[in-house]
Amino acid sequence: MLSTQSLHSEIDQVMNRSGNAFLQYRQIPAAKRAEFLLAIAQHIEALGDALLQTAAAETHLPMARLTGERGRTVGQLTMFAQMLRAGDWQELIINTAIPDKNPPRPDIRRMLVPLGPVVIFGSSNFPFAYSTAGGDTASALAAGCSVVVKAHPAHLKTSILVAEAIKAAAIETGMPESVFQHVEEGSFETGKLLVQHPATAAVGFTGSFSGGKALWDYAASRTNPIPVFAEMGSINPVLLFPDALETQYATLAQQYAASITLGVGQFCTNPGLLIAIEGAGLSSFVEELAKHLQEVRSAPMLHTGISDAYAKKVASALSIQGVQWITTQPSAIEMGTALPVLARVSASDFFHNPTLHEEIFGPYSLLVVADSAEQMMAVLQSVKGQLTTSLMGTDKDFAAFAYVVQEASLVAGRIVCNGVPTGVEVCDAMVHGGPFPATTDSRFTAVGVQSIKRWLRPVAFQNFPDTLLPDELKRTNPLEVVRVEK
Ligand code: NAP
Repeated sequence: MLSTQSLHSEIDQVMNRSGNAFLQYRQIPAAKRAEFLLAIAQHIEALGDALLQTAAAETHLPMARLTGERGRTVGQLTMFAQMLRAGDWQELIINTAIPDKNPPRPDIRRMLVPLGPVVIFGSSNFPFAYSTAGGDTASALAAGCSVVVKAHPAHLKTSILVAEAIKAAAIETGMPESVFQHVEEGSFETGKLLVQHPATAAVGFTGSFSGGKALWDYAASRTNPIPVFAEMGSINPVLLFPDALETQYATLAQQYAASITLGVGQFCTNPGLLIAIEGAGLSSFVEELAKHLQEVRSAPMLHTGISDAYAKKVASALSIQGVQWITTQPSAIEMGTALPVLARVSASDFFHNPTLHEEIFGPYSLLVVADSAEQMMAVLQSVKGQLTTSLMGTDKDFAAFAYVVQEASLVAGRIVCNGVPTGVEVCDAMVHGGPFPATTDSRFTAVGVQSIKRWLRPVAFQNFPDTLLPDELKRTNPLEVVRVEK
């Protein structure tokens, strides 16, 4: 552990190096940055099983899941490289001069440019795909920003291995020194100093509400505030409509038991809130769901901080008047592990207990039982900003409840029709974001290639000769990039 003075000095040096690296890196052509991203992917793959074994030991995640997540990480880096090569990510818009207009229109050429050094706090639940070389790092490096990652203490060794792979790729492809740096000192003070350093231009974060909000507050209290893109979790409401419950309760129960318990519930898209109207179909669904959840054995969580928080939050929710435990209460549970829990509450009790609206990170889901369609809607309207909302219904349900789609889009960044919220596809159209407190900026996504937009800002060049314009905006379009010209 460094002394306060040494820590200040170390962070100051890290961020000043990042500032200098940014000045060089932003000049490097997009095609060269694409080579860098692809080299990172290769170096990560070259780490082989040693990387997977290190991550498995640190996170308790199974090898199959980690293998898939490494593939996703490599895939993300490749997607950003392809995006850079395609050249359509800079939103190039050209309005040519109209001298005859009154007043005359000047020649205006707009493009997106990188913000500057980005500080990234990786997540504990995605040691590869949303950590050291994860989506935040890949998108920021693609944008032309230098990156400083604060290693997550729950998987430090994994983070160090991946950081070395990124550094090797940087050397191999001739990137500026310190284009990527890895800070291993784990403390809140380290995070605060990184966010508040004058050279820092933006912050990416995935984790708890308290963590994301703290970083946001540090950034807002700077002399020059900077954006913080924090993804802070969600309870992901699921609306179960009456006809679907009547006719498909067994399939729905199976589908949702699998989603609630996937990865020991350690996903920000875990379905933590089920909303339905009282009825025979609901009773059959609840019985089936509880049966499936009880078949799942306790499993280790990422770290004891997370399993302790899960146990405390579940106990606190279940102590609230009107909350009923549906799955069987276990007599004892091994330290560090978690068991699935299904609880039930009436809509009126849900409205009066804000604690029940909070995320419980783990294999927990609360069923809110409404007495009417209007009350079901009121439950949805009462929840805070969410990453997802899922609608489970038949054609008959959707004919009766078509208006719910608009309501759902007010609440969440992604609306799922007859599916589960877990499993976030990495693609161009994905939106992994949502109104506060799911994220600190609902205009952006943290997953998919559009996440690059978080690290870019628009600049317009007015009346410039070709000799002074960036290649992307020159009249001759030497890079042959896609541009909107009007
Ligand atoms: P966390 O506690 O939010 O920590 C994530 C990172 O943020 C860590 O590097 C931590 O620093 C830093 N941090 C947290 N609070 C800070 C503060 N006040 N000032 C400066 N830095 C701060 O997340 P976690 O350890 O991964 O898991 C804890 C809880 O987060 C879980 O129980 C769950 O509720 C939630 N979670 C949510 C998601 C999601 O997808 N949204 C993912 C994982 C976890 P240190 O390194 O110094 O600890």
